[in-house]
Amino acid sequence: MDLREILSAVLPAERILTDEPMSAHTTFRAGGCADAFVTVQSEKELTRLLAAARAKYLPCVIVGRGSNLLVRDGGIRGLVICLEGMNELTLTEDGTGIRAGSGTSLAALAAFARDHALKGLAFAGGIPGTVGGGLVMNAGAFGGELKGVTESVRVMDGDGSVRVLSGEEMAFGYRDSIVKRRGGIITGAEFRLEKGDRDEIAAVMEELAEKRREKQPLNYPSAGSTWKRPEGYFAAKLIDEAGCRGMRVGDAQISEKHAGFLVNLGHATASDIQALMRQVEKRVLEHSGVQLTPEVVILGEDL
Ligand SMILES: Cc1cc2nc3c(=O)[nH]c(=O)nc-3n(C[C@H](O)[C@H](O)[C@H](O)COP(=O)(O)OP(=O)(O)OC[C@H]3O[C@@H](n4cnc5c(N)ncnc54)[C@H](O)[C@@H]3O)c2cc1C
Repeated sequence: MDLREILSAVLPAERILTDEPMSAHTTFRAGGCADAFVTVQSEKELTRLLAAARAKYLPCVIVGRGSNLLVRDGGIRGLVICLEGMNELTLTEDGTGIRAGSGTSLAALAAFARDHALKGLAFAGGIPGTVGGGLVMNAGAFGGELKGVTESVRVMDGDGSVRVLSGEEMAFGYRDSIVKRRGGIITGAEFRLEKGDRDEIAAVMEELAEKRREKQPLNYPSAGSTWKRPEGYFAAKLIDEAGCRGMRVGDAQISEKHAGFLVNLGHATASDIQALMRQVEKRVLEHSGVQLTPEVVILGEDL
């Protein structure tokens, strides 16, 4: 089956990459190749692509910025569909809401809200994902989460039909949503915000960015917090107390700066990262009796 031939009936050649290293599309900068990696720019294009994939029984995986993803070293069979091209941003008619395509970066969304003096998204300014990935994960920081500002979400099913779910129907939980549990492709969303003062919003965003720079190892590739926060605990504290800060497997390391971050010092493989994750989980369980659960989504095949 010639993947390029199938895909070029739907997409321009420059948006079709075959045998594409996922290390180039994940913030961990690790992982094997996708058989094909394509970028779509509209719901219409996505519908046609899904139909073409379905006709050939091609499995599909959706990604945003790969900032919460670990792709195993054997890569991903089938098609990886990146929605970063769906990145339109508009104000709603009443001026207090924003409609965003799912590939819009959360940074661009938060900056757009600030520039229109709309409050409620400052927390998202430093989260390096997209609207789609953020909604799947109910991304959050500094006391805010997308759940708190989501009016509605457009979700496409495998047959190309689109449903509009309310914020409530998204059934958001901690780093969780109905789309994460049941599947579907988020193509866009509407956020409900409040009128505020542009300069005040800008100041809050700058303060939060400074906190990140101070506390997080932003100079190394990572996927942010590797583990979820166990109820009643902080993952980083448990990891630190179990003596794992600085622990290494190959070039995968538990950050010296923030023990909740697993960083890639240069040439870590996905198997180094997974081996280190397992060692940390075992040590934390032995030390404190708490089982850590990965926040990072792990995809693909082992070598
Ligand atoms: C330095 C750093 C700091 C971070 N800080 C935070 C933080 O403060 N708070 C936080 O919550 N997260 C944080 N993260 C993690 C990450 O940025 C978020 O989880 C983000 O929302 C993931 O978005 P993404 O577009 O990169 O999704 P991806 O990593 O590409 O995908 C994540 C999951 O969502 C699925 N997915 C992606 N897009 C869609 C779509 N449109 N429809 C259906 N499924 C989809 C993927 O298949 C995958 O299962 C951080 C990461 C890094 C590297």
